[in-house]
Amino acid sequence: MKYIGAHVSAAGGVHNAPLNASRIGATAFALFTKNQRQWSAKPLTEEEILSFKANCRQAGYAPGQILPHDSYLINLGHPDPEGLQQSRAAFIDEMRRCEQLGLIYLNFHPGSHLNRISEEACLARIAESINLALDATRGVTAVIENTAGQGTNLGHRFEHLAAIIAGVHDRSRVGVCLDTCHSFSAGYDLATPEGYAAALQRFDALVGFSFLRGVHLNDGKKPMGSRVDRHEKIGEGTLGLEAFRRVMNDPRFDGIPMILETPDESRWAEEIRLLTGMASEGKKAAGGKRGR
Ligand SMILES: [Zn+2]
Ligand SMILES: [Zn+2]
Repeated sequence: MKYIGAHVSAAGGVHNAPLNASRIGATAFALFTKNQRQWSAKPLTEEEILSFKANCRQAGYAPGQILPHDSYLINLGHPDPEGLQQSRAAFIDEMRRCEQLGLIYLNFHPGSHLNRISEEACLARIAESINLALDATRGVTAVIENTAGQGTNLGHRFEHLAAIIAGVHDRSRVGVCLDTCHSFSAGYDLATPEGYAAALQRFDALVGFSFLRGVHLNDGKKPMGSRVDRHEKIGEGTLGLEAFRRVMNDPRFDGIPMILETPDESRWAEEIRLLTGMASEGKKAAGGKRGR
């Protein structure tokens, strides 16, 4: 079973996110639990929490179908003590908000070295930031997203994800999210069948599918290896429709939230239908083969 949805708006309160997701026919969704461009937010009220949970229940979203995303300001590998401290405090606050909402994942970008510390030192800081957040919370898994490697962002090599995980004490609460656009921009050729097989084999060898907790479904505006993070509508970018057909027919992506972060939100319902159709096409073909 593929859970397919989009990063929907939580404007007016987190309880609106499941309603927005349900309206576009999503079986998964992502949200920000606070304004993603501000450091602080007022705590969630008991009423907001209850209403979020009730709306999720009514629309049929279990916690495993929901992939909250943290604020873009947070850098868990920050080279400066003050910047690191601020990021760690904000991340712990976001983990707590997820815990309060009964959610089990928090998706985040690993961090940036800003050319002031080595990659190794930055990756070690990120792992330590995760350790602190896991110690301060219960039940929420820290889900590291692979990046396009823009600027000094780490996480664009599967080796980076593996190094971070290696530094985390509680492996049961750390996972990864693969973004198709980021992977392609980072140089993993998901656009061809051979490239797709090789990239995912590499991922499995270095990180392991057992750590996979989510997928971001985005086509790309830039060529492979560009290290530039620009999302495009499904089937209209440099990855192309066939790349998504492969993903939708790959059982290694079953049972986890698969989230669109494509530019035109008026197309999300249509994109979800398209991707859901691809997943069931594959099932029919496989069933037919077995029948014969
Ligand atoms: Zn992201
Ligand atoms: Zn993403």
